[in-house]
Amino acid sequence: MATRSGATSPAPAGPAAVKKKAKVAQTHTGLVRQARRINRELAEVYPYAHPELDFENPFQLLIATVLSAQTTDLRVNQTTPALFEAYPTPEAMAGANPVEMEEILRPTGFFRAKTRAVIGLSAALRDDFGGEVPGRIEDLVKLPGVGRKTANVVLGNAFGVPGITVDTHFGRLSRRFGWTTSEDPEQVEKDVASLFPKSEWTMLSHRVVFHGRRICHARKPACGACPIAPLCPSYGEGEMDPEKARKLLKYEKGGAPGQRLKPPPDYPGQPAPPLAAS
Ligand code: SF4
Repeated sequence: MATRSGATSPAPAGPAAVKKKAKVAQTHTGLVRQARRINRELAEVYPYAHPELDFENPFQLLIATVLSAQTTDLRVNQTTPALFEAYPTPEAMAGANPVEMEEILRPTGFFRAKTRAVIGLSAALRDDFGGEVPGRIEDLVKLPGVGRKTANVVLGNAFGVPGITVDTHFGRLSRRFGWTTSEDPEQVEKDVASLFPKSEWTMLSHRVVFHGRRICHARKPACGACPIAPLCPSYGEGEMDPEKARKLLKYEKGGAPGQRLKPPPDYPGQPAPPLAAS
């Protein structure tokens, strides 16, 4: 079939016509070709892919990323306006009253641990980096509670330094696409990095995460409604019936708002509602 990007794909048109396929070993060149084709298709499906956390500067993105553990970006976006109004800088956040901050962070879950984490992180920024978020991965990963995933989110989106962000969605989809067999995020990052030019890393991360959140879910991927089914070696792992699959779609693909309260101008859905309205 001719895809929207003009590429020729090996299977007949439409997910419903795609047959469940046996996984076959690929050469590295074959894998590079398949991976780049999937990336091109995802770019067509999600031309508006973007970071789903609201932020106005590197400090806000760093804190929001730490808060996004074990919750949705939507919930973080609904919580951070009050947080950054009360504590707009690392200095202010480092000096916060923990009990007051816990009340603000309560909706994000694990709010006591998260309060300790962001106060500790802010103190390290204040004491070791002059109150500025550093723009190098070697420095970012020295901050308490900051691993490569968080560091790459901040570098890619607040500093324009290409980075592959291996979160739970990116790892799962990379394995489903056959780009890696590893469960170790650092190895996944290396394996996927070898398939793409650096210039694609940040946007690839957004597209794959968008796809994982909206269509290729952990428990029940919506294969029957998946626009990249003809390219996917794992087609058939999830719901193949197109009608049932469509009901599994989330966020704007499922007809609901996305996750940002302040989405980018080209975003096709509705902004998400603030906390009090949800
Ligand atoms: S939803 Fe199914 S076909 Fe689509 S990427 Fe996921 S596993 Fe592959």
